[in-house]
Amino acid sequence: MKVLVINSGSSSLKFELIDMTNEKSIAKGLCERIGISNPIFTYKNLVKGVVVKDRPEPMENHKIAIDVVLKQLQDPENGVIRNVDEIDAIGHRVVHGGEYYDDSVLVNDEVLKNLEELSALAPLHNPANVMGIKVMRELLPGKKNVAVFDTAFHQTMEPKAFMYALPYEDYTELKVRKYGFHGTSHKYVSEVAREMLGKEDSKIIVCHLGNGASISAVQNGKVVDTSMGLTPLAGVMMGTRTGDVDPAAAFYVMEKRGLDLKGIDTRMNKQSGIKGIFGPSSDFRDLASEMEKGNERAILAYDMFCYKIKSYIGAYVAAMNGIDAIAFTGGIGENAFYVRRDICNDLTFLGIKLDDEKAGEWLPGNVEITTKDSKVKVYKIETAEELVIARDTYRLTK
Ligand code: ADP
Repeated sequence: MKVLVINSGSSSLKFELIDMTNEKSIAKGLCERIGISNPIFTYKNLVKGVVVKDRPEPMENHKIAIDVVLKQLQDPENGVIRNVDEIDAIGHRVVHGGEYYDDSVLVNDEVLKNLEELSALAPLHNPANVMGIKVMRELLPGKKNVAVFDTAFHQTMEPKAFMYALPYEDYTELKVRKYGFHGTSHKYVSEVAREMLGKEDSKIIVCHLGNGASISAVQNGKVVDTSMGLTPLAGVMMGTRTGDVDPAAAFYVMEKRGLDLKGIDTRMNKQSGIKGIFGPSSDFRDLASEMEKGNERAILAYDMFCYKIKSYIGAYVAAMNGIDAIAFTGGIGENAFYVRRDICNDLTFLGIKLDDEKAGEWLPGNVEITTKDSKVKVYKIETAEELVIARDTYRLTK
């Protein structure tokens, strides 16, 4: 059984073909600049180790892009399947499942209708996700498609955690509430952490730190609270997003800078966060290398980033009235060992004791970085969002 995982964005499309007999990825790649100038295609055959990088391809729309993907997968030289019959099902990442979905779902016409309705809540993401599903249904009719939601795992939050103190009808009529995102990662990483802890009853805080970043409190496998909100703008500071700010700051900046809604949306989503404070880049590696040179704005951005995460950890220890483990994941959480170390060294009141050696260097795989007698365990866990999508697709279609 082979599952094709599709993550369709507005101008990009990531794909991965996973063999479910051993859960190994056999090919993956990326279509970039779809529908804009100079589109490029990247592909890796993971069986042979062949890499096709930045190949120019005419990809005027998502249908043509997915066609390029399917042709490449069947390519006699560098492909991994003889024909599309070998693809058993397709799993799609869908950002917003609203209150409709607390689990992944097999796509039918009614599901598609709901997803289109949910585009109002996630206008930057859901329309592109829905397009990916529609194109796949067109190109491979008869194959089953499964939608896997970023929001689903967080649906266990209680109203006291997910409600905003806006007029109640904004919730009942407009569905304005906290949803949370990166759910597939929080689910997978909290499950791995639970296994590493060896304890069913567990209080775990997951810090997913990538370009987008979110923290979640997971008690006995259920999300109690999470840092992102109605949209992925809330919570900790991110690559280009503000994270939490006083909403009135947005009104004030709009007024003073003469921005309309789109203008303030772009400023807060694309020009803020690490990029906004540091300046030249939103990439953590650039930030780290400038910090080493003593760049004050880089140091400020780094300190703000770590402080906010530490504050969320404190809040979530309170939310769960205790904690067993903290798990770091995502591009920054997995690789920037100094972030893990600097945050945890400032949390000694919890009884965290880092193993200096393990906490002070980059390590492969899933590892514990605390000492044996540390009251709270700290883990670095490699996330596997595509695998979660493939597993759910397999579960719902096999
Ligand atoms: P996305 O949210 O786009 O999936 P990722 O989880 O891939 O993002 O994380 C991207 C971030 O991880 C970038 O800021 C990048 O600089 C950072 N990152 C990747 N590798 C390293 C590394 N070795 N050291 C520090 N930061 C890293």
